[in-house]
Amino acid sequence: MTENNNQTGKIGVTTENIFPIIKKFLYSDHEIFLRELVSNAVDATQKLKTYASIGDFKGELGNLSVRINVDKENGTITITDRGIGMTLDEIEKYINQIAFSSANEFLDKYKKDANSIIGHFGLGFYSAFMVSNKVEIETKSYKEGAVAVKWSCDGSPEYTISEIDKQDRGTSIILYIDDENKNFLEKFEIEKLLKKYCRFLPVPVVFGKKTEWKDGKSVETDEDNVMNDTNPLWTRKPADLNDEDYKKFYQELYPFSDEPMFWIHLNVDYPFKLTGILYFPKIKTNIDPNRNKIQLYCNQVFVTDSVEGIVPEFLTLMHGVIDSPDIPLNVSRSYLQSDQNVKKISNHITKKVSDRLDEIFKNDRPQFEEKWDSLKIFVEYGMLTDDKFYDRAKNFNLLKNTDGKLFTLDEYKELIAANQTDKDGNLVYLYSSDTNEQYTYISNAKDKGYDVLLMDGQLDVHYINMLEQKLEKSRFVRVDSDIIDNLIQKEDAKEVTLTDKQKEGLNEAFTSQLPKLDKVNFSVDYKALGQSAQPIQITQNEVMRRMKDASAMQPGMSFYGDMPDNYNLVLNVDNPLISKIISEVDGKEKEDVVKYASENQNIRQLIDLSLLSNGMLKGESLNNFIKRSTDLIK
Ligand code: ADP
Repeated sequence: MTENNNQTGKIGVTTENIFPIIKKFLYSDHEIFLRELVSNAVDATQKLKTYASIGDFKGELGNLSVRINVDKENGTITITDRGIGMTLDEIEKYINQIAFSSANEFLDKYKKDANSIIGHFGLGFYSAFMVSNKVEIETKSYKEGAVAVKWSCDGSPEYTISEIDKQDRGTSIILYIDDENKNFLEKFEIEKLLKKYCRFLPVPVVFGKKTEWKDGKSVETDEDNVMNDTNPLWTRKPADLNDEDYKKFYQELYPFSDEPMFWIHLNVDYPFKLTGILYFPKIKTNIDPNRNKIQLYCNQVFVTDSVEGIVPEFLTLMHGVIDSPDIPLNVSRSYLQSDQNVKKISNHITKKVSDRLDEIFKNDRPQFEEKWDSLKIFVEYGMLTDDKFYDRAKNFNLLKNTDGKLFTLDEYKELIAANQTDKDGNLVYLYSSDTNEQYTYISNAKDKGYDVLLMDGQLDVHYINMLEQKLEKSRFVRVDSDIIDNLIQKEDAKEVTLTDKQKEGLNEAFTSQLPKLDKVNFSVDYKALGQSAQPIQITQNEVMRRMKDASAMQPGMSFYGDMPDNYNLVLNVDNPLISKIISEVDGKEKEDVVKYASENQNIRQLIDLSLLSNGMLKGESLNNFIKRSTDLIK
């Protein structure tokens, strides 16, 4: 005891001074002090309301707003509530003892995992020291006959505590802002933080007075400037809300964004508590992951908007709010990811999302189809990365064909079963990645009565691989990867009856006339496809192409990426144009074949036509082709 009836004590930490560590540790994130102190004030207020509702507190509740006051001249920020307050014993217990025993624990853990964050250890209050060189608490408990007390600590483990005169119930926390943190004494800075962290707190948070324009300048009114919406949409009953409410709230969260397609109102009580609203945005081709992120709240206190690792990755494409008291505040990302509650929550959300999609699909398929282009990437992403989601989504996942028609996996299977099963009983899904470039191949396939899928999405390469693994006896083949009869082999191919010498001659005749293309190799192949089938076609082997496609997406695999593209030049030996060339090269020596070929307009013309239909005839070769064609017309 000191002379003026002040009590002094030493805070029970073994470490000489914990504050430098707190400061250093939370340096990058020190703005959270305001969130911590305002949420403590809100908690104290909520507790008082609870006591009042069960009859443990019989006094006047009065105005329960939490007030923030910045005094730039004196360098202080004060957070005042009219909640339950604290008695001297409670300060002793909650501020001096408990907090500091967890401080020890914190220091222990901190050595191991520098990412753990302070609040997990009940050190919320002490985050005040990140920005202050002195902190005072003036508090009076709601309990009858309580004596008001003042606690003061200048950042060393010493504190003083004394009785004071204080009329009003509740607590004021006074921060003496240190030199490095003077920026927090700016009004706009505090406003920014309150908007970020306190926007949806359940108790009004007042920062100064509302202003209005009068005679050309902004003047203060008498009205409190309430910074938050105490009753945000996700805390309300879905039955009381209409579409406009949801759309309005979306605009509030993400001003100037396109209207969302649909939304899910989450409301779970058991086995954990969770509320929230998730929106399906219209996804444009370019996803910008930095815009419109899902916001995570804990009892209406903003926690984070980087939810990667907390919710399954594909869900991060959604927008909206998730609020759960079971999501621990202020813990490290690695801790959150391993937390069992967080895992359960994330599984639950996945289920809700697939249920909702399933429901829309079943009840309003036209709407679902209309929005499929935006939903597709989301659903495919989910199916690729989450087995549980795949199992649920396989019923409403759609395939689009080149005519723009949509089918479920089952429907599509039924559509092509009769006509697109090969001789080994495999179902062959034909697809195109570009309807313009592969136009000839698509129309050849359609002439055969085949259906061709459109697979031009960002994830489709992976998606095709996955479907091949999941669907039994099924293969995906791009329309241009082989001649039409080979895409879906129905019977064993007819044999080619050429002598080796004839093959050699034919090979020489064509390869000698191929234009040089950068990073492209051709090999000549012979097929007996009947007289009326096309004389020459260019195809690209499916397996080789997929290897290249896959490597292009993986950095570091540039070895494959740099390899040339291999194409087949397929000659139909039955076609009269080709058989004529065969007979003309037959018996000729190599040089004579080359000479013959260079003088034979048809060979160049055939090669160019096949390149042209493949989009590969460009520049000088294209120009030569046009000149030659004009000559041929003459
Ligand atoms: P936590 O809030 O995680 O328990 P804090 O360090 O923020 O940890 O606060 C410690 C305790 O101090 C709280 O649990 C509460 O009992 C008490 N306390 C803090 N601020 C207030 C306040 N404004 N009014 C009443 N009690 C408070």
